[in-house]
Amino acid sequence: MTPQEISAYMKAGRIARKARECAEGAVREGKTLLSLAEELERLIRDEGGEPAFPVNISVNHEAAHYTPMPGDGRVFKRGDVVKVDLGVHVDGYIADTAITVEVGTYRYEALIEAARSALDAVVRRMRVGVRTSEIGGWIEEEITAQGFRPIANLTGHSLDRYALHAGLSIPNFDDGSRKTVEVGMAFAVEPFSTDGQGWVRNWKPGNIYSVKRARKGEVLGDFGREVIERFKGLPFTPRWLPDTPDRDEMIRRGVKSGFLHAYPVLVERGKGTVAQFEHTFIVTGEGVKVTTL
Ligand code: MN
Ligand code: MN
Repeated sequence: MTPQEISAYMKAGRIARKARECAEGAVREGKTLLSLAEELERLIRDEGGEPAFPVNISVNHEAAHYTPMPGDGRVFKRGDVVKVDLGVHVDGYIADTAITVEVGTYRYEALIEAARSALDAVVRRMRVGVRTSEIGGWIEEEITAQGFRPIANLTGHSLDRYALHAGLSIPNFDDGSRKTVEVGMAFAVEPFSTDGQGWVRNWKPGNIYSVKRARKGEVLGDFGREVIERFKGLPFTPRWLPDTPDRDEMIRRGVKSGFLHAYPVLVERGKGTVAQFEHTFIVTGEGVKVTTL
């Protein structure tokens, strides 16, 4: 990792931390999810970053991949368990971080604490050479000790320039993998805790898309070119294309032709409530750094 890469990762991490801290205070009863997403994405751009993906705001048994659509009127309600998961990139170098907030009540404090303390344990114990399965074991141990389940089919992931999932998964349980954390790697760790079954399944479409097969974008002309050049393979949402002619129709055709991937909202299979925390790590010659801490 060059000094320039390290500094871009660290800058993205600082901006992501600032946006996450803002989110923690900004989730309030009666506020729209849309205004929160727009506020955070504006903060990211004002600080000199770009959103690496649309701000995900997933509530209660939704675990991930919901972002508000244009004009979305959905509001936070008292008692909601809200996951805000956000990404920042600086020149393609990504920071990915998440927090969980309960709106106005304290019923899910223990569930939220389980995911938070699992991530704290990972931060404390992380070192070069550790197996990804050991990291998963720490998470599983922390969450189950507190009476909850980790979500088995959601994982952390390695990062690369303009690549949110660069090939290596960091599980939320000990999956027996012998892969290890090595110098030069960037990756996110994201423990999810639930009082449900510990599995997510696909639900309805969630307003998030990414380019799947760039060559299939040619038939969509300017729209295809714009999406490829502007997002460079990172996820995007219709909110970010307010002036695009026939936007919704273009996206529909893009999905149908295999040009675009549409991310479904992921929900807990047993309708359990879900909490999540996430940090991004880089491993340099000097050791492991948490960029979003
Ligand atoms: Mn994330
Ligand atoms: Mn992530």
